[in-house]
Amino acid sequence: MSHAPTAKAEIGVTGLAVMGSNLARNLARNGFVTAVHNRSYSKTKTLIDEHGTEGTFLPSASPEEFVASLAVPRKILIMVEAGGPTDAVIDELAALMEPGDIIIDGGNAKFEDTRRRQAALHQAGIHFVGCGISGGEEGALNGPSIMPGGSAESYDSMGPILEKISAHVDGAPCCAHIGTDGAGHFVKMVHNGIEYADMQLIAEAYDLLRRGAGLTPAEIGEIFADWNTGDLDSFLVEITAEVLGHVDAETGQPFVDIVLDAAGMKGTGTWTVQTALDLGTPVSSIAEAVFARGLSSSSVQRAAAAGTLPGPTSPWSAKDEDAFVEDVRVALYASKIVAYAQGLDEITVGAAQYGWSIDLGAVARIWRGGCIIRAKFLNRITEAYAADTTIPASLLLAPYFTDAITAAQDSWRGVVAGAAQSGIPTPGFAAALSYYDGLRSERLPAALIQAQRDFFGAHTYRRVDKEGAFHTLWSGDHSETRTA
Ligand code: NAP
Repeated sequence: MSHAPTAKAEIGVTGLAVMGSNLARNLARNGFVTAVHNRSYSKTKTLIDEHGTEGTFLPSASPEEFVASLAVPRKILIMVEAGGPTDAVIDELAALMEPGDIIIDGGNAKFEDTRRRQAALHQAGIHFVGCGISGGEEGALNGPSIMPGGSAESYDSMGPILEKISAHVDGAPCCAHIGTDGAGHFVKMVHNGIEYADMQLIAEAYDLLRRGAGLTPAEIGEIFADWNTGDLDSFLVEITAEVLGHVDAETGQPFVDIVLDAAGMKGTGTWTVQTALDLGTPVSSIAEAVFARGLSSSSVQRAAAAGTLPGPTSPWSAKDEDAFVEDVRVALYASKIVAYAQGLDEITVGAAQYGWSIDLGAVARIWRGGCIIRAKFLNRITEAYAADTTIPASLLLAPYFTDAITAAQDSWRGVVAGAAQSGIPTPGFAAALSYYDGLRSERLPAALIQAQRDFFGAHTYRRVDKEGAFHTLWSGDHSETRTA
């Protein structure tokens, strides 16, 4: 099937499954002449048949026709399956494109793949932009949060288009140039890791209210709805309230009780933790969230252990229900702050490693709308970085967050201690609190670990009272030698 375009398209989208077709519609609705293409023509036809009147689409059946329908410099957004399919589409399109053209990969690519692809296309003079897009299908249609990497030159050209179709909060677009090559996909990866942590922490709060105070899902849903009017105001808290209030039509049971308690994952949380391990930056809240999903899906082990491994003899019975609910709310907020601080640390360390200049205030700003972790709370992070762009060590040292954590301390500790006493698992809350206590400790038992390492492996240690590296002759007379 062939169409003779009357005008060249300003941008093209290839890969018209749920994300690509909704982004193409978003572009066309915003007035951009949008070329559309899919490997199999049926998806292109469906898009045009069902939504062709929403704007100006230029449909193509072949890559050649698709590329020819675009104005120069050509801008093509690829929305196909991540991994091999993305490589195949890039190779096919790049062979038809010219120096100065721009290929944007909006899929969930690994940032290392984006760096590799950028380096390869750079040789051909083609700009390659790895672009994180968050918000699922609804965001893609009505305004996602967009995290483009790539060259500044490419952003000058396609940034205004992406900004226009992104979500807007207080008039500001939820799209900003993140940094060169893989920076956009790196930040999207960490976004997803934070999303894992946020969801885990919310789930723990629900579990505490249910097991600790004996509240029903519907009652807890109302509590979450109330929390959504304060510091915790966020998309995830909002949908939690709705899910907990939902009743299964078939059984009349609370919906949450008929869902199998085995959490799935697609990999971006794992990538966040793997990358953090490579970089040596502690993201314990995110890691615990990934591990908790793993434990939930360990059905054989769980079945063998449930009812066999003993817990404490007395369950938690919260005496003052209102006070308990408030303690859990505060503990959730404090833990969430730690999870975001750890994620932002990973971005800082990644930026240093890969030579990116990333504005963390801008990152928080573009996460305020469109994406899954959108939250009022992100305004506070943006404000913190606007007040002090250097926040040198940790978000937790920005005054607003120091105050929030300080105010939360007693509740936070009480909730984690009570959960441990009564056998309710809170890996996210506990990891966040432990990180906080580790961070603020003047001395850590790492000194003992260094001594052990020197004992069995002669790894040497540094002293607090003088420069240099030292080794103690543990198998000899315990005398000390200076090695550097
Ligand atoms: P998807 O199911 O990941 O991919 C399906 C699309 O990829 C179809 O258009 C398919 O074409 C195309 N495709 C697969 N292999 C191909 C190949 N070898 N050559 C050419 N095209 C190929 O689609 P999606 O859920 O819309 O997601 C698209 C991208 O966005 C993915 O990278 C995904 O990770 C990312 N993403 C998704 C979401 C979400 O909420 N779903 C959110 C953010 C980002 P055919 O129709 O011909 O099979």
